[in-house]
Amino acid sequence: MSEIRFHSGEDIPLELHKVRIVQKLDLVPVERRTEAIAEAGYNTFLLYNKDIFLDMLTDSGVNAMSDKQLAAMMVADDSYAGSATFTRLTDKLKEIFGTDYFLPAHQGRAAENILAVTFVKPGTIIPVNYHFTTTKAHITRLGGIVEELVADEGVKIESDCPFKGNFDLERLEDLLAREHERIPFIRIEAGTNLIGGQPLSLENIEKSADIAHKYGVLTVMDASLLQDNLYFIKTREESAKNLSLREITKRISNKMDIIYFSGRKLGFARGGGIAIHDKKLYLKMRELVPMFEGFLTYGGMSVREMEAMTVGLEETMDMDVISQGPLFIKYMTEELIKRNVPVVTPPGGLGCHLDASRFIPHVKQEEYPAGSLAAAVYIAGGIRGMERGTISEQRETDGSEHLAAVELLRLALPRRVFTLSQVMYAVDRITWLYENRNLIGGLRFVEEPSSLRFFFGRLEPVSPWPEELRKAFRKDFGDSL
Ligand SMILES: *Cc1c(COP(=O)(O)O)cnc(C)c1O
Repeated sequence: MSEIRFHSGEDIPLELHKVRIVQKLDLVPVERRTEAIAEAGYNTFLLYNKDIFLDMLTDSGVNAMSDKQLAAMMVADDSYAGSATFTRLTDKLKEIFGTDYFLPAHQGRAAENILAVTFVKPGTIIPVNYHFTTTKAHITRLGGIVEELVADEGVKIESDCPFKGNFDLERLEDLLAREHERIPFIRIEAGTNLIGGQPLSLENIEKSADIAHKYGVLTVMDASLLQDNLYFIKTREESAKNLSLREITKRISNKMDIIYFSGRKLGFARGGGIAIHDKKLYLKMRELVPMFEGFLTYGGMSVREMEAMTVGLEETMDMDVISQGPLFIKYMTEELIKRNVPVVTPPGGLGCHLDASRFIPHVKQEEYPAGSLAAAVYIAGGIRGMERGTISEQRETDGSEHLAAVELLRLALPRRVFTLSQVMYAVDRITWLYENRNLIGGLRFVEEPSSLRFFFGRLEPVSPWPEELRKAFRKDFGDSL
């Protein structure tokens, strides 16, 4: 993908691929959408795909595959042990990262389990630039503590900082100086999922790694969103402008002891694993793979997915491929800004993030603005996003609500899946909703699971606002869906 200047003067993210397999989508009328979200307990996780037009819930395991990936899946070597498919994947990782060893795992969180079981015990501290839900769950389950050290700019919603995922190096150095004996590794998440796919700079990655190594602490990279981060280093970091993607990747991996990833994002397939330079570290973790995942040459993955991942990793070294997500997200974010819709800036990877606190400031945080906005965006356009606010938090042990630091609605853009007119449609419906934002009200729980309530919890509107929204839509759009 590349930004192409149109005669009108506008820069348009032009697709450098053609679509050769399609999946039919339905856009059900607003009446059905209003019904469907009520049936789903106003929780977008509980909607059925038949009622969804644009599924912007996540970028995980739903990225489009290339013809070369599909072709590779046909030649996968299905043997329990010694599979040639495994050798091809290991060789590709070695070529890209320079790592000699690879431990396969069924997805990213399984790699996190192996790392946590190996390195974390009660009292262990794991410094991170920012946490991810599954990472934190594995570390705290074993009695470890996650120390978040992202620079202050990282959590500002509106910013022009190009690298909001950067470590605060002073705080990192300070923590390591005091506590390095309790710290087996620092975890660098490139890019950072929960603050909006925001990247770290190459300089910050290298400096953080040097600080860790100075104190004899290992460096671990969560490379699940590395492809977006590579794009941002190449396009936003002056000193990296003349480096190739392969050179940037090598510079990063040379500073890492361990690189793990979710293959549901990196490599455009499904699976995951851990790439390691050092044999001792590899042996330390190896026995956990047959115990939890599967034999060492597949680790719970289908060999077809492993072949697709091998080709996907190669395609990650192609700027035309990895720029698609960030350029679409930039386009969507900038179009929304032009229409005064509050969003997270600068645009990152993964998706476009609406700021529910400013979108519907009249909905108080105890009535879940991000969750309400998710329901409203679905009613307005059949678009499914993911609540990233208070509903995604857990209650305190005394039962009181833990209010989230930010109330965001994430609209993920799975890579190479949507066309520009679909993105323009989303911008249009969100703009309409913004102009009718006063109609949107809050939600309250009717069924609230005690853990991970955002997955299965059911809510209801505090007033009949979804019905008012439906009526306004019908009035403004006439017969249109
Ligand atoms: C998705 C993700 C994970 C977890 O990977 P799964 O394959 O979903 O288990 C870990 N870290 C980051 C940064 C992610 O985005």
